[in-house]
Amino acid sequence: MRKSFLPFSKPSITEGDISAVCDVMRSGWITTGTQNSIFENKICEYTGSKSAVALSSATAGMHLIFHALKLEKGDEVITPSMTWVSTVNLIVLYGAKPVFADIDKDTLMISKETIEPLITSNTKLIIPVHFAGASFDIDPIKELAVKKNISLIEDSAHAIGTKYKGNMIGKTGTSVFSFHPIKNITTGEGGIICSEDTSLIEKLRRLKFHGLGVDAYDRMTQGRAPLAEVLEPGFKYNLPDMAAVLGIKQLERISDLNDKRTQLANYYRESLKNISEIIPLSLPKYDIKHSWHLFIVRVNSKKINRNEFMTELKNRNIGTGLHFQAVHLHKYYREVMGFSRGMLPNTEYNSDRICSLPLFPDMTFEDVDDVVNAIKDILK
Ligand SMILES: *Cc1c(COP(=O)(O)O)cnc(C)c1O
Repeated sequence: MRKSFLPFSKPSITEGDISAVCDVMRSGWITTGTQNSIFENKICEYTGSKSAVALSSATAGMHLIFHALKLEKGDEVITPSMTWVSTVNLIVLYGAKPVFADIDKDTLMISKETIEPLITSNTKLIIPVHFAGASFDIDPIKELAVKKNISLIEDSAHAIGTKYKGNMIGKTGTSVFSFHPIKNITTGEGGIICSEDTSLIEKLRRLKFHGLGVDAYDRMTQGRAPLAEVLEPGFKYNLPDMAAVLGIKQLERISDLNDKRTQLANYYRESLKNISEIIPLSLPKYDIKHSWHLFIVRVNSKKINRNEFMTELKNRNIGTGLHFQAVHLHKYYREVMGFSRGMLPNTEYNSDRICSLPLFPDMTFEDVDDVVNAIKDILK
């Protein structure tokens, strides 16, 4: 058995990252400033996006989008239940109605086929998730959204570095990325919205800082312009420069980080090939480049259920994650919103069986061997 605990995720932080953060701390300006602008420009360069605004989290970004698009009571938002709770919580907090599309059983993503029948005259937004580092099939969904005049927002929290038909996620449309420590690159906490709609980004930039017509930082006064006025009431969702500089440094290494994730994932897929009770996700049939944010398997065994499997791995010093428990089966959504089992068969099948195995760039191939051997030991 392993001597030391293998976490399921760990950020890759170098001495260079640390000294860049320290330099900002010594500079006299630690909140939103020049590092934010540099980070936004570098993300645009990397993804090919026209414009971007850095924020304190992806959840904050989704909140600003809902506000900017005037989501309100009576509106419906189509999204998967197989997602992080943040999106659905916000929909409900706005008095709007979450409408869950079922996912593909083996890629965990919603499609034009599962979305289209749910569209009504109240549908305001469609928010699919690029899952685990793969891309959802954007073109058919975009075509549907345009035809029905509904906004499409891409939850790209798992998809920095992912490509769809040769283009980086974020290049077209409107994408919300997260830089939480488990994501492929991190700012500690943070997120960014990329959009080809530059006027939307300018509106979000204002909303992220109290609705003042300025950013937190004015170069001339080395501070905030003291006479700035509120143009519309806004929020306080800006990213500190201490965090933005970490993002800049991480982005310099993203190709290496994602390449290492890919090698580890390929080794997992090869090593698990003959274990029939452990089923990795399938790769989409359309053209993508995977960024391997997560390595997810389904535990489909008569001997052991998923929760017991996770406990047994923990007993063998191996950490796991669960991405995600179906949102419609959380206590509030069952008891207050009236959702129940049986509504979304593919989502529920996976919610009961999925488990994220350790995957992070500083892991070794021997670590993968340890995980696979522990799995064999558990199932024997
Ligand atoms: C992480 C995540 C989010 C939220 O990101 P934060 O930066 O933590 O707010 C949203 N959606 C998905 C699918 C995620 O995995």
